[in-house]
Parts: sequence; structure tokens; C-alpha cells
Amino acid sequence: MSKYTRLLILMFTIAFSLNPHLTSAHPTFHLKDRAYYEERGDIVWEVPTEDKCIALTFDDGPDHRQTAQILDVLDQYNAKATFFVVGERVERYPEIVQMQLARGHEVGNHSYRHPLFRGMSKGNMQNELSKTQQAIFQATGYKSVLFRPPGGFYNEALINVSKQNDLKFILWSWHQDTKDWKAPGVDKIVKRVLTGTRSGDIVLMHDFVANSTQTIEALKQILPELKKQGYSFVTVSELLTHKVTPDLQLKKVIH
Ligand SMILES: [Zn+2]
Repeated sequence: MSKYTRLLILMFTIAFSLNPHLTSAHPTFHLKDRAYYEERGDIVWEVPTEDKCIALTFDDGPDHRQTAQILDVLDQYNAKATFFVVGERVERYPEIVQMQLARGHEVGNHSYRHPLFRGMSKGNMQNELSKTQQAIFQATGYKSVLFRPPGGFYNEALINVSKQNDLKFILWSWHQDTKDWKAPGVDKIVKRVLTGTRSGDIVLMHDFVANSTQTIEALKQILPELKKQGYSFVTVSELLTHKVTPDLQLKKVIH
């Protein structure tokens, strides 16, 4: 075990004792996992950098109503974002995915039917990922390079299948899980993002939430405020090109 890994595990231990939220929000999390996968470069949670930029991400779309409205709000602030799309919805709304790319956003793979991956065979995993790659390609001629599993689930098999499909495995910053999928109220979503915002954060939101416009309303407050603070909004692939500052990586864990 490297010195770096030992230090990171120590930091996690401190973080857990200080912040019980981490354990309740991630019940399946094991201490060594993040350090292990982050160090191997297999999973990205965030990009600790001194450059003042943030990656907003939206899962579960495309949706002809909500996604279209989100795209308009993003345009108003010249913000670029990443949409992790569900393959079968891409087939239903190809024009929305075309619009996302045309407006300078990135499109990532979020599986074909949004199933639970826990306990799934490798063959079915492969099916979910490749069918979505095909759906995106057919709709747009674009080959996605990012994968985010539903529910943030990961195991060795899924990481391998993702690699075999040339997809980078992307999760999100722990302190940037807005839980907007359960419509917790606009204020809660806004507060979640604006509390402890840090350069290189990856923010988790959704552009398809049944009977809710809260994400759109929250964005109308989040975007101007963060812009005022000097942040720019970039796609995940662009964020990945920014320089990681190792010291920041350790500080981030203990928050
Ligand atoms: Zn999802």
C-alpha cells in the first residue's frame, strides 16, 4: 500500500467520525473503495483543481419538456453541462440529444433501461452499455466517452465492461448530491449546491423528474450565484483536462 493510499484512508476515517452524513448517504460504501479506485484512475468522483470550474451533470433524460427548459436556462448563463442519458429515452427523443450536442454540452451513457446493476451478469451489463452507445450514435453520430451507472453502483465487472466500451466511469462529488429526484424543495437543492462549493466539483442533478420543475427553478438561482463567485461551468470531459492538485484532493475528503 502506498503512502498516499494510507494517508487517504486515514482521512476517510477522520471524515467518517466527523460527518455521519457520509455513512447514511452511502450505505454500501467501504472505506478502501474510493481510495483504491480513485488512485487506479478507474472512477472519477471529482477533479480537485485550483481552476475555478464546475461540472453540472443531469441524469435520466432526455425529456422533451424538462431537458428543453434546462437547456434554455444553461444558455442564459453560457453554462456547459453533461447529460447522462438513458438509451431507450434517446430513441424516443433523438432531437433533444441532438440539441444538447449542438449547444455545446456533453452526452454520457447512463444505461439503456436504467436497471439495477447489482447482481447483473456481465453479458447484460455489456448489453445495457452497448445498446445505449448505439442509440446515442444513431441519434447524433456521436460516440459517448463517459458512463455513469444508475444509483452510482459499481463493482469490478461493471468497471471492466465500462473500460471495454472505452467509457470513463464518472460518479459525483459526495457533497454535491442534490437529491433533486425526490423533489426535496427548490431551497434544499440550491443550498446543497451552494454550501461548500469547490473548484472541480461534479454536481448531480436530473433532467427527468416526474411532476417536478424544482431542478429548473433551482438552476435559476444556482447559476447566477456561482457565476458571481467566478466559477465557469464546463463539461465533464473538459473538467478532466484540468490539473489535479494532490493537496486539494486530500483536503476535499475531510471537507
Ligand atoms: Zn439515473
